[in-house]
Amino acid sequence: AFQADTVPQAPEDPLFGLMAAYRRDDDPKKVDLGIGAYRDNNAKPWVLPVVKKADEIIRKDPDLNHEYLPIAGLAEFTSASQKLLLGADSPALKEKRVTSLQTISGTGALHLGALFLSKFYRTNAKRTVYFSNPTWPNHFQVFSNVNLEYQQYPYFSKETRGLDFDGFIKTLKGADEGSIIVLHACAHNPTGVDPSQEQWKEIAKVMKERKLFPFLDTAYQGFASGDLDRDGWAIRHFVEQGFELVIAQSYAKNFGLYGERAGCFHFITAPSSDAEETTKRVASQLAILQRSEISNPPAYGARVASTVLNNPELFAQWKEDLKTMSGRIIDMRKALRSKLEELGTPGTWNHITEQIGMFSFTGLTEKQVLKLREDSHVYMTKNGRISMAGLNTNNVDYFAKAVDKALR
Ligand code: PMP
Repeated sequence: AFQADTVPQAPEDPLFGLMAAYRRDDDPKKVDLGIGAYRDNNAKPWVLPVVKKADEIIRKDPDLNHEYLPIAGLAEFTSASQKLLLGADSPALKEKRVTSLQTISGTGALHLGALFLSKFYRTNAKRTVYFSNPTWPNHFQVFSNVNLEYQQYPYFSKETRGLDFDGFIKTLKGADEGSIIVLHACAHNPTGVDPSQEQWKEIAKVMKERKLFPFLDTAYQGFASGDLDRDGWAIRHFVEQGFELVIAQSYAKNFGLYGERAGCFHFITAPSSDAEETTKRVASQLAILQRSEISNPPAYGARVASTVLNNPELFAQWKEDLKTMSGRIIDMRKALRSKLEELGTPGTWNHITEQIGMFSFTGLTEKQVLKLREDSHVYMTKNGRISMAGLNTNNVDYFAKAVDKALR
């Protein structure tokens, strides 16, 4: 019989544990650089103005009800999501090679993709999944929960605090044919380091030669450069190269819809004469997996995103809101770097402005991170990652001074 007393204690999730420690700290100077959620210049959560507008429109609709969505989710939402990722005139869409399901944000999309691959992905080799080193830690759990084995490819160079491109390519070349390669489409978490377009081209070329399967994770479109198309470039390049691939898309960050869990999973079949039929069969299996796990996805977040994505005026405003967020983060990168340089803090700080997106990999060691927490009430993850959105004009000098002190 099952005996609950044999269940071992699992460790606390490090990130959510960090959040709890921050909340318990009652020092007024405390700084939260842990969780990857946008904050305004007053360190407060920011409801995007365009989301407020969409919310008003939804609430005014006299036909609004709380019925179930279809299994694959809100159709206006999934089709607008395809266009946002692939471009409205994508050949993959015209050729009906794309099938998409609304999911429980990006995590749900990753899970649905991993589950689908674990059931249906056939290859001669072991189906190893490769993650970047480092990566978003939840990747490990999501894929091992469905019994897929993983390895890592080199990604971050400690020396340059940039991309370890040679190590990355070398590992791709050595991977078994058919291996699944998880790629962060833009604004890599946790490093803030992305390949250049030239490097993406080379990555895609090697993956094609080695017959590797791309699993693209996109959680920050519009957040990296402030430009949706630019941030979508890598995905479009892979699709243009004719790969069969999957995409996990999150709207948590770029719409500030964290808790509403709006996301999408996309399967793109490689071009062929029966690609449309294949795509339909894939869709039928995905629907069964979705039905057995969540029946159908939650409505509100998808309604908000869909209202914006399908209305040209609101879409234009969304782009402005994205610029507000990415612009403030860029300003904070500049301010932090110049303050550290002004203080003569040991080390080089150019990586702070060279890295992009929500995070910066500072290069601080675990010991220094703990010292910052104890001495200065600054909360960041042990790997030295800071969420740039936690900095603002009121605390950036304080943080720079705290770093300076910890490094001397
Ligand atoms: N992938 C990466 C790389 C992420 O950073 C995140 C968010 N932290 C996600 C996926 C998914 O997040 P969510 O489930 O909140 O959309």
